[in-house]
Amino acid sequence: MLLIKNGRVLDPASKTDANVDVLLEGGRIANVGANLSAPGAELLDATGLIVAPGFIDLHCHLREPGQELSETIETGTRAAARGGLTAVCCMPNTQPVNDNASVTRSVVERAAASASVRVWPIGAASIGSKGEALAEISAMKSAGIVAVSDDGKPVATARLMRQVMEYCDSLDLPVIDHCEDASLFAGGVMREGPQSLRLGLKGISAQSESICVGRDVEMALLTGARLHIAHMSARRSLEYVRWAKERGLRVTCEVTPHHFTLTDEDVRYDSSYKMNPPLASRDDRDALIAGLTDGSVDAIGTDHAPHHPASKDVEFDHAPFGITGFETALALGLSELVHSGKMPLMRLVELFTTGPARVLGIERKIAAGEPADLTLFSTTHEWTFRAADSASKSRNTPFDGRTFRGAPMAAIVAGRIAFRR
Ligand SMILES: [Zn+2]
Repeated sequence: MLLIKNGRVLDPASKTDANVDVLLEGGRIANVGANLSAPGAELLDATGLIVAPGFIDLHCHLREPGQELSETIETGTRAAARGGLTAVCCMPNTQPVNDNASVTRSVVERAAASASVRVWPIGAASIGSKGEALAEISAMKSAGIVAVSDDGKPVATARLMRQVMEYCDSLDLPVIDHCEDASLFAGGVMREGPQSLRLGLKGISAQSESICVGRDVEMALLTGARLHIAHMSARRSLEYVRWAKERGLRVTCEVTPHHFTLTDEDVRYDSSYKMNPPLASRDDRDALIAGLTDGSVDAIGTDHAPHHPASKDVEFDHAPFGITGFETALALGLSELVHSGKMPLMRLVELFTTGPARVLGIERKIAAGEPADLTLFSTTHEWTFRAADSASKSRNTPFDGRTFRGAPMAAIVAGRIAFRR
């Protein structure tokens, strides 16, 4: 038994904002109410802290199996817990690709043995994510996948997307797409614009993403399937999503902390600023923040993408895409979205909890009988993020040395404290 006392409970599902205690027992929430007592229970004093439903990350790369130099399920989920996350969805672009039930089972087993938080695997849409033949989606679902994606690249063609959607619709799985048009992307390394010209780096237009979002929305219209747009970075993409939502289509999207914090003007000759999709224009960034605020964007997803220094610390053009993101996600949300006055705290909590849960077709709330997954955080604690102190095996982040107001203070998974600051 664990009794969390004196915290401020924020629960978007029930619109609760109240100073109440939460009692956890046997991996479930046993009671929520004022002045609870439970003889023999471990006490966690949450004075001054927010008590929220457990945060869910829809998008990360844990690199296991196959790239354990960059990350493992153990190190990645320890970093996730330090970021206040209690469940993470890991993308299938491992080595081998998670495109069949035996890889899915091995991820689930490794997670059971070594993970600090819940690990919900995402299966590949096509075999080897090569864009040719459908992966073993049904068998992977039985083994534990929560969605499918060829992340790292888009589902290759409209025809394949139609097949994937029709198949996933029958299994009630969301299809997550990394939207990019290969012919427009063509060797680019950052967003096309004045800054790419100034730096002499090959640009990628916003349309490389939005054309593919448009294609996917058309396929969602055709099939009625669930579509989720990963790491959306462009205003035009958001306009397609809004159109789809207005039509009642089951289309959702996520935005990463780096895309709502930074723009292409921040890019320097430092591969910690190289990610895919690239940092966008200020106009796009402002559109994303508006979408996060007004509900057009469903979730914040980190796209935690660790890369070992040996591969990442090279010339900008040659470095792989991606940055780490677990440990800074909440703090960036607090500083960029809440402290800046752009959205109320409840909305930020929603973007980490009920928002991503809805994308997955599950519920997330603080009520008796629910799983005992909780995130405790401070909106005032001042701290400096040091990449060298990260629990991740990798250090590729543009936020090293950044000072924050507000921090994750504890992650509780199935009633057990996975992290406590
Ligand atoms: Zn991606």
